[in-house]
Amino acid sequence: MNQYIEETKKGLVHTYNRFPVVLERGEGVYLYDTDGKKYLDFAAGIAVCGLGYGNEEFNQALKGQIDCLTHTSNLFYNTTCGRAATALRRITGMDRVFFTNSGTEAIEGALKAARKYAWKKGTGRFEFISMEHSFHGRSIGAVSVTGNEAYRTPFEPVLPGVRFAEFNNLDSVKAQITDKTCAIILEAVQGEGGINPASQEFIEGIRKLCDQEGILMICDEIQCGMGRTGEMFAWQFYGTKPDIMAMAKGIGSGLPVGAFAMTEAVAEYSLEPGDHGTTYGGNPLACAAVAKTAEIFEKKNLVSHVREVGGYLAERLEELASKSGGVIERRGIGLIQGIKVKRPVQEIVSAALDEGLLIISARGNVIRLVPPLIIEKEHIDEMIEKLKGVL
Ligand SMILES: *Cc1c(COP(=O)(O)O)cnc(C)c1O
Repeated sequence: MNQYIEETKKGLVHTYNRFPVVLERGEGVYLYDTDGKKYLDFAAGIAVCGLGYGNEEFNQALKGQIDCLTHTSNLFYNTTCGRAATALRRITGMDRVFFTNSGTEAIEGALKAARKYAWKKGTGRFEFISMEHSFHGRSIGAVSVTGNEAYRTPFEPVLPGVRFAEFNNLDSVKAQITDKTCAIILEAVQGEGGINPASQEFIEGIRKLCDQEGILMICDEIQCGMGRTGEMFAWQFYGTKPDIMAMAKGIGSGLPVGAFAMTEAVAEYSLEPGDHGTTYGGNPLACAAVAKTAEIFEKKNLVSHVREVGGYLAERLEELASKSGGVIERRGIGLIQGIKVKRPVQEIVSAALDEGLLIISARGNVIRLVPPLIIEKEHIDEMIEKLKGVL
């Protein structure tokens, strides 16, 4: 067995079933393993590496920052944190940002921000409504609002006061509202849950419900955000705006960084000095990555590129679904798409790997396609050819 695999298996807690591939380097939309085998990447490190691999400008910015300073703590200001916050405010339209080190922490912060808001307003509200088949992370707080029992049950009792509603069913959400409801949390496009986009009526309905009932709307944009839908964030695709949002994955193009953001109306009654903190969050290196990522996205107009190639991906997948007996349906928007297949999805993912194609699965026997946002139509053609062979 490969020495890296052996060492990893021996040393790590067994929380992952990894494929027996050791990835070593990347270039554009391709990855190479330690045997020099080339893979077309339609996973992007789970919707993270939007810029692909080896982006010269991005890498230079990081190298420069490493030579300056990588950590200061939040006891001091640094030279990139403010710039990254300005970039996120610009692309989200939100007013205030808190930097975290992961998506899970962004969710934790978003939940705390909502609870503090209710506490300071003296409403007595503390409950959360979340969606079935949602995924929000693995800490006790995040797992408490994750709509997948397998992830929660072994860790019970989890956070009390969380109610689950059916995604895309507004009546089901209404049925869970009480005078204690603090916030409704949802992904506009469920990722891990099977690539399920919200309907326009559902998102608009949630926004209206929140406004009427004095409930905060929290959007988890960790996977569906940062350009995937062909808008910078998925809620923008629907023309709505949450009160609080969580980001991570794509915002640092591969560096571990997340953030939650809120409107001024929330911030006014929410977290104050002493309420929340993190040692690494907002560190100069992660923030250099966020600021540079946003800059490159805007300069390249990546979202309009996503709209174009995303449309083409949908076309080719529809064609595949109609011609191949092995595909039940296509789902998704832009470059967050999936196909529901008949054969066990892990079998297909594994066979694709042999053919030099990296794809990942999602709930409900779905192949999840979340490639780097820089892919071109020729890469989509290449992926379809490989996938056809595997199916
Ligand atoms: C990945 C993900 C998370 C958790 O992010 P981590 O960085 O893994 O902690 C939360 N919500 C959604 C929608 C995700 O896709």
